[in-house]
Amino acid sequence: MKSLLKIIPLLLVINLLFSCKRTDEYQVYAIKYADGWKIQAKDWVTGADLSDSVDVCEMFWLIKSHDGKNILVDAGFIDSTNTFKEYTRPDSMLKKLNIEVSEISDIIVTHPHNDHIGGLILFPEARVWMQQDDYDYFIGPAWEENGYRTGFEKNDVENLLSISKQGRLKLIKGDNIEIMPGISVFTGSKHTFGNQYLRVNSGKNKILLASDAIWFYLNMEKELPVCVCMDTASYVKTIKRIKTLVADPGLIIPGHDDMVFRKFTEVQDWIVRIE
Ligand SMILES: [Zn+2]
Repeated sequence: MKSLLKIIPLLLVINLLFSCKRTDEYQVYAIKYADGWKIQAKDWVTGADLSDSVDVCEMFWLIKSHDGKNILVDAGFIDSTNTFKEYTRPDSMLKKLNIEVSEISDIIVTHPHNDHIGGLILFPEARVWMQQDDYDYFIGPAWEENGYRTGFEKNDVENLLSISKQGRLKLIKGDNIEIMPGISVFTGSKHTFGNQYLRVNSGKNKILLASDAIWFYLNMEKELPVCVCMDTASYVKTIKRIKTLVADPGLIIPGHDDMVFRKFTEVQDWIVRIE
């Protein structure tokens, strides 16, 4: 009897360990917020054939932890000039999942193109994560005479500076860094000066959110760079590297390919769960 009493607390602890969901495992969603562009693959993918086609859309990603934390990867943008035939503001898309803007704790910015950070102003309380090199180039040298600023907008510089002043900006220095348990960031793609992509632990698998380190499945299949890029050799090298970072290549998610929304299970209109 005495030995049984000794063993009971141990059994309770073991039971607790197995019943608790781990804090380094997440659910991952892709959320489309704009559609209706028609483009030719060869104009966007350098080296694509005339017969190649791609189906482009705008999306961002939601990472949900088991303990109720909501993390965004990028924030989309606000279509004030009605560029898109079909557009829903990123915060309205989140409402479809019953998530309010105040419930977004963190936004991991992959790079400062307007379609990825224009929507940051919708989330005035969130902590914003960005690569230091990308940030430094974006607020400075990009705007000099020979700066590379395709896709950059001055308004977004002002906004990031104010996020920094408010103490909400977390700068990340370098490649292969686990910024939160189960979430690692990688660099080297040169889509922008220091753009990053992420690997997220979903429990069963690891998911690679490439964002613009891979625009389309076509880039991945043919190992071709995109037309917006500071160094095409680095871009292609990174595509090859990304393929080594996850066991299942089907869980590499390109940043602008509408195929993502046909490949995975729909949970709401324009929202799929990646698993
Ligand atoms: Zn981009």
